[in-house]
Amino acid sequence: MKSILDHLGWEEILRVMREEGERRKAPVLTLKGFLKTPFQHLIFAVLSSRTRDEQTARVAGRLFREVKNPQDLMEISVERLEELLYGVGFYRVKARRLRAIARQLVERYGGEVPSDFGDLTSLQGVGIKTANVVLAHAFGKDVIGVDTHVHRISNRMGIVKTKTPEQTEKELMKIVPKGLRKRVNSSFVAFGQTVCRPVRPLCDECPLNQWCPKIGT
Ligand code: SF4
Repeated sequence: MKSILDHLGWEEILRVMREEGERRKAPVLTLKGFLKTPFQHLIFAVLSSRTRDEQTARVAGRLFREVKNPQDLMEISVERLEELLYGVGFYRVKARRLRAIARQLVERYGGEVPSDFGDLTSLQGVGIKTANVVLAHAFGKDVIGVDTHVHRISNRMGIVKTKTPEQTEKELMKIVPKGLRKRVNSSFVAFGQTVCRPVRPLCDECPLNQWCPKIGT
């Protein structure tokens, strides 16, 4: 199978993607600077599913003005929470999910977000991708959060040949060198939001064009 890795190393690929995302002001790089605590990273990650980063950032900013920690989230009424979350996809479902997560954080972890994969995925509605994004972004752990951008681009570049994000995560963990893994999510997402987009990727403008096999595009 042809792969961009036949020509470039991981360090180079991640650097080019990140720089291109910065140059084009990728939402993932410009909108998440206000996330300070593991709690905020976790809530943002849960809110962001099936919602654009711009919209998630708007709603999260509004939410965090009233809700500072799991205790606040547990005590706020469902009606008020739904009002605050209006604008993200499935906001009613997410309102209930957030309250359940808050309760679990308070009851099991003393109101702190755990930094262990098993503990995080034991929280209601927190899957592998969300847990890894939180571990990488909030705790600096060397793991890979694989969302649709990471999955799609890895396949287009011939780095993996997989059907699901879960399979992609397993494969990437075998081949991305330690120390670089935590950079994969933000670099790939930034690149996927701006250049290697889901529909009509900008291959003609892509700095990786000459080495990319463009599988499936
Ligand atoms: S050449 Fe096209 S498919 Fe390959 S990384 Fe660039 S935009 Fe994506």
